[in-house]
Amino acid sequence: KSKQTGKNSYFFYDDNQDAVAIEHHRMVHRFRQALAERELVLHYQPKVNMRSGRIMGAEALIRWHHPERGLLPPGEFLPAIENDAVIEDLGDWVVGEALRQVATWERAGLTVPISVNISPRHLQSPRFVERLERHLRDAGRLHQSCLEIEITETAAIHDLRHITRLIEECRALGVPSALDDFGTGYSSLTYLKLLPVHTLKIDKSFILDMARDAEDHAIVSGVIGLARAFDLIVIAEGVETTDHGLLLLALGCDFAQGYGIAPPMAADRFLEWARHWRPDPHWAAAGPGIAP
Ligand code: C2E
Ligand code: MG
Ligand code: MG
Ligand code: MG
Repeated sequence: KSKQTGKNSYFFYDDNQDAVAIEHHRMVHRFRQALAERELVLHYQPKVNMRSGRIMGAEALIRWHHPERGLLPPGEFLPAIENDAVIEDLGDWVVGEALRQVATWERAGLTVPISVNISPRHLQSPRFVERLERHLRDAGRLHQSCLEIEITETAAIHDLRHITRLIEECRALGVPSALDDFGTGYSSLTYLKLLPVHTLKIDKSFILDMARDAEDHAIVSGVIGLARAFDLIVIAEGVETTDHGLLLLALGCDFAQGYGIAPPMAADRFLEWARHWRPDPHWAAAGPGIAP
């Protein structure tokens, strides 16, 4: 059974390739301005331990304060810029901004690592690790485990040897890697065995349907089992309800991210949220589970 990832939206334009290319070109140009004019902002969504209530980290998610169109989510502009060099400038900005945020929160008494999403094209850039190291050094954060990168399976299998080395180099700098949207790509167990990632993020499409779809439930259960066998952390995306959480806890997955915990928030709101959040009492009351 196939899952929509959003990237398939290109299909609608198959008979209109030139128009799409022009549109993308225009967007790239406009996005460069946005970077220069500081119209971009990161929102942060917590990753938590549903049982203990501990905040494990925050995922940085890009938003564009477009002067005419309002606050745009990445789906409105990433597809148009993802294959252009500007995506590397974006990733570079995101890393620097995330490190500044780590320090700002720390001064306010909140210590959480931030995960950043890195596009496939940026991962191919020979300067990626070098730039990352520079950012960490400038921030005084080498080997401090305050940053994590999220990569998609598709990026990983595109050039397995390169990505494997990159993941190892990042880890040596104190930056672990997570495999994002796990289950939606084409990676095999062999790839999973070879990729030295630290975390698997189960794609939200499986979580959202697992209560009523036995196949999705089996996939989630299988991924959790795989993660345990490979000694990886496993996080569920798209936890929207108490029941999603309970099903996951019963399967041995304690870590979650989703609207049922908190939406992506501006940095100040995240801080406020972190001060007051308590886990769903049903989760805290769930049995001992089978967590690794
Ligand atoms: P992702 O990395 O898989 O991020 C999770 C997406 O799921 C986010 O969408 C988040 O808002 C959404 N989400 C969180 N909880 C729930 C939930 O309970 N239910 C549902 N239905 N959705 C939930 P968002 O912010 O629109 O980002 C979409 C994608 O854009 C991200 O998917 C990531 O692939 C990409 N992206 C976001 N920020 C960046 C960035 O700074 N750089 C790059 N290269 N890509 C980014
Ligand atoms: Mg992500
Ligand atoms: Mg994801
Ligand atoms: Mg996704």
